[in-house]
Amino acid sequence: MVGATRSKYSLIRTPPNLCDAPREHETKNLCNWWLHFCILAGMQNHTEIPRRDFLAASAAGMTLASGLAFAAEGEAAKLAVDGGAKAVTMAYAAGPRFGAPERERVEQMLGQDTLFYWKGPQTGIFTERFQQVCPAKYVMTCSSGTAALHIAVAAAGIAPGDEVITSPVTDIGSVIGVIYQMGVPVFADLNPSSLNLDPADVEKRITPKTKAIIAVHLAGNPCDLDALKAIADKHNLILIEDCCQAWGAKYRGKPIGSIGHIACWSLQNSKHITTGDGGVVASSDETYGPKLQRYGDKGFDRIKGGQFEFFSTNYRMSETQAAVGAGQLTRLEEIIASRSKLGNSLSEKITGLKGVTPHNVHTEDRCSYWFYMFRIDPKAFTCDRAQFVKALSAEGVPASAGYIPVTMHKNPVFQQHGFFAGKWPVKDLGLTSMDFTKHETPEAEAILQTGIRVTIHEAMTEQYIDEVATGIRKVAQHYAA
Ligand SMILES: *Cc1c(COP(=O)(O)O)cnc(C)c1O
Repeated sequence: MVGATRSKYSLIRTPPNLCDAPREHETKNLCNWWLHFCILAGMQNHTEIPRRDFLAASAAGMTLASGLAFAAEGEAAKLAVDGGAKAVTMAYAAGPRFGAPERERVEQMLGQDTLFYWKGPQTGIFTERFQQVCPAKYVMTCSSGTAALHIAVAAAGIAPGDEVITSPVTDIGSVIGVIYQMGVPVFADLNPSSLNLDPADVEKRITPKTKAIIAVHLAGNPCDLDALKAIADKHNLILIEDCCQAWGAKYRGKPIGSIGHIACWSLQNSKHITTGDGGVVASSDETYGPKLQRYGDKGFDRIKGGQFEFFSTNYRMSETQAAVGAGQLTRLEEIIASRSKLGNSLSEKITGLKGVTPHNVHTEDRCSYWFYMFRIDPKAFTCDRAQFVKALSAEGVPASAGYIPVTMHKNPVFQQHGFFAGKWPVKDLGLTSMDFTKHETPEAEAILQTGIRVTIHEAMTEQYIDEVATGIRKVAQHYAA
C-alpha cells in the first residue's frame, strides 16, 4: 500500500542508466539472429566477413526483400499457399525479456531478511515505478490480474445479485471476481471496429440492480472512457478499468487506468511485462482506494491492525515478484512506444483495402497492441476465414483466426449456470433472473467469427510490418469476390 510505503522508499531511485541495459542484450540477440541468418544463407565463414561488407550485404538483402514485396503486389502475384514467393521475407529477433534491471532488483532482494510484501523494499520500488506509469494514490500489488479484478469488485461493494456490465470478449479473469462475490456478470455488445464496449448497448442493459461497469481495454485499445464515465456518473455506477492487456496505453493522452474509479493490471507471462504471474490494483478514489490493501490481504488492515472488519481471500504478491516487476517496469515505455507505432503503421497500410476493417484506434489514443485484430467481410471474399488465415500464414504473416473460441457466456459453465459445484446460489435463491442461454451479443459473436489476429511484437521493424501489410493485401486481392 502506497499510503504507508511511498515516503519511506522515495529515497531509493533507479540509476538513470539502468534503462540502457536491455539494449545491450537486444543488440547481442540481433547479432545472434544475423549469425543464424548467415549460416542459413550459406555464409559459414561469416566471422571473416569484414563488418563493412557484412552491413552492405545486409542492406542489399533488405532492398531485395522490399523489391520482392513490391513485385508481389503486381497482378501476377502468386500466393505462397499456391507455391508463390512469400510476402514476409524478414524475421524479427525478440530480445531476452529479463536481464540487468531484474537482476539488480533480485540481487538486492536476496540480501533481505524478509520477502513479505508489507513494507518490502522491492514492493516499494515496484509501486513507485508503477505510479510513474499510472499516478494512482492507492496501489496494491497482488497475485494475478484475476486477483486484481476480484479485489476491485470486492472494494466496489458488489453484493449478491448486483449486476456488473462488461465485455463478452475478454479473459475469463474479468468476471471471476464478480461471480465469487455472488454478483451477476451482464455482457454488453461491442463496437464493430474498436472491439470494445459499445456505450449505447451498455446503457440499454442497465437495470436497478446494476452496480458497476468493467471496461476491458481489449488488446490495449482504450475503451470510449468519456462515454462510459458519463453513463457511470449518470446512473451512479462504479467504473472499473481492466487494463490487463493495456500496459502503457493512453486515453486522450491520459494514462490508462486513471479515469475509472478502480483499475486492474496483470503481470501474467503473456502480458507486455511480467513477473510470471502477478497483478496490480489501483485507485485514487477515497472511497475504494483505501480498501484495496485489505481485500488483497485476508481482510487484514496492515496499518491499523486489530480485528477483522473485511472478509476476503489472500491475494498477496511476494517481494520476489515485485523485484522482477520493478525491473520489468524500466522496459515498459520502450516496449509500448514500439508496439504502438507498429500497430498504427499496419492500420495505415491496410486502410482502404476492400472487405478489410483495420483495428480502430482513436487518433488521440495510444493503443499498446497486445495483439492487432482486423476483420474481414465474408461477402467480400471468395474464401472463408480459415482459408484466408491459411494463406496469410503461408505468406509468413503471423496470423491466427479470432481470439477466444466463444463469447464468455457461451462457455458451458455459463450456459449451465454451474459456477459452484454445478449450482449458482444467486440464481437458485432468486436474486437474479439471468439466463445465459438467452443472452445475446451479436456484434461480439461476429467479431469472433470474422476477426483475424496479427502478432505485434516490439522487436518488429517498420520493414517487417510493411511486408506483413503486403501479405494481407496480396491475400485480400487474390480472394476478392
Ligand atoms: C490476462 C487477463 C486477465 C487475467 O489476468 P491473470 O493475471 O491471467 O489472472 C484479465 N483480463 C484481461 C483482459 C486479461 O487479458
